[in-house]
Amino acid sequence: MTQVNKTPITVAYGDGIGPDIMHASLDVLQAAGAALDIETIQIGEAVYRRGLTAGIEPAAWDSLRRTKVFYKAPITTPQGGGFKSLNVTVRKALGLYANVRPCAAYAPFVATRHPKMDVVIVRENEEDLYAGIEHRQTDEVYQCLKLVSRPGCERIVRYAFEYARAHGRKKVTGFTKDNIMKLTDGLFHKVFQEVAAEYPDIENEHWIVDIGAAKLADSPEQFDVIVMPNLYGDILSDVAAQIAGSVGLAGSANIGEHVSMFEAIHGSAPRLAGQDAANPSGLLLAGVMMLNHIGQAEVAERVHNAWLATLEDGVHTKDIWREGTSRERVGTQAFAAAVIERLGQEPQQLAPVRYGADRPFAPPVSKPRPAARKETVGVDLFVEWRGAPEDLAQTLKAIEQGPLGLKMITNRGVKVWPDGLPETFCTDHWRCRFMNGGGPVPLTEIAALSARAAEAGVAFIKTEHLCTFDGEPGFSLGQGQ
Ligand code: NAD
Repeated sequence: MTQVNKTPITVAYGDGIGPDIMHASLDVLQAAGAALDIETIQIGEAVYRRGLTAGIEPAAWDSLRRTKVFYKAPITTPQGGGFKSLNVTVRKALGLYANVRPCAAYAPFVATRHPKMDVVIVRENEEDLYAGIEHRQTDEVYQCLKLVSRPGCERIVRYAFEYARAHGRKKVTGFTKDNIMKLTDGLFHKVFQEVAAEYPDIENEHWIVDIGAAKLADSPEQFDVIVMPNLYGDILSDVAAQIAGSVGLAGSANIGEHVSMFEAIHGSAPRLAGQDAANPSGLLLAGVMMLNHIGQAEVAERVHNAWLATLEDGVHTKDIWREGTSRERVGTQAFAAAVIERLGQEPQQLAPVRYGADRPFAPPVSKPRPAARKETVGVDLFVEWRGAPEDLAQTLKAIEQGPLGLKMITNRGVKVWPDGLPETFCTDHWRCRFMNGGGPVPLTEIAALSARAAEAGVAFIKTEHLCTFDGEPGFSLGQGQ
């Protein structure tokens, strides 16, 4: 017999239904011939209760960093303050930048209004509003920073195109809101266009996220792979899974440059724990994604097709069982046994999957590029103030000195000075723009302006420098349109 090289993976059995569905899934993967060398770690409730606020043992990180592949069952996050989300901790600590979630319909075997739907959402997983940098800046105004980086955009967009190519998908769609967020979402869109040009074999298109989301909800069959910034992807991947009719059946992958994590999208369903009643399909399909990721595509294909055949034969767990369509109602382990029985079979009505010809692809790394020529040309001084904009302008004009002159004041992005409208609602948070007619400004002048503001009793909250990059403004023009 040929000696097969086993791939080391880290497995966590989790909480609630976790152990049931993990046993069932591993039984299927191993019966299909997956060559896995399993290390088990403990995560979740018991670990939280031992006072480890992230729900993971320090030693578990060594296993994750060693195997680089994490097959994770759901966990129960204890109620109450002080406990951190394990998923967020693992994603951020290990740089799992791509969240990949296939959302397919299995009509007529699972009810859905979109029987032809077969969409893969690729969500950026680390940046955007999820940097977790928030401030209450004034009595009335709170801020959350939206951070978007070029390398972050490049690798997620490239990942989406590589994924499409590797899985025989034809089109990649980008969703952004760059008509409003011209710099942050604008960067994502620009990088999308640049990267798309390198994949002439894959069709590409871009939609503004609002109309894109409406189209996705109405006619998901017109989409193939969709790549999005973090927040839109978080929301729309749940919408997509739900309208496919199969939230309980969906698996997901969190991919990083070094480590990747595979899990079902549902939680630990504590009420079903230990009853052999849960559907293991979400975790099993996450296992299929894992096998593809580690280069065992033929085993992945065998498992996926046997699973489709099981679904088609009407062997269903309680959550998807329906009078008329279903034939045999089974528990978790019996469902796994039914899939194992069908290994080698293909579905007759549902389309069989073909992974055998897929090539595993290395997570893309962003290309180094020369830095742009940066010049500071002004500063936005953010001020807490109660009163009329004209009075604020007068106070600020009094601290003008050197090259920096007051050019504009906005309130929540709407210009209120000069030439503001009395109808504009103003809160206590003002952005006051000082510039030097477009010319360069030494940083010492900005520091001096801040010092004069402080001496004059102007309650400034922060300064944001206005810079050009290769002559292009790196700031919004702030007219509030
Ligand atoms: P849940 O996904 O566990 O359950 C929602 C509903 O779906 C319940 O009715 C449940 O019985 C059903 N369900 C879920 N998975 C099922 C399956 N495989 N088979 C049959 N039915 C299934 O969501 P919840 O109740 O909001 O959360 C329970 C716990 O799970 C919470 O502690 C939550 O923090 C945690 N959670 C963990 C993860 C994760 O580890 N990735 C994700 C989401 C929620």
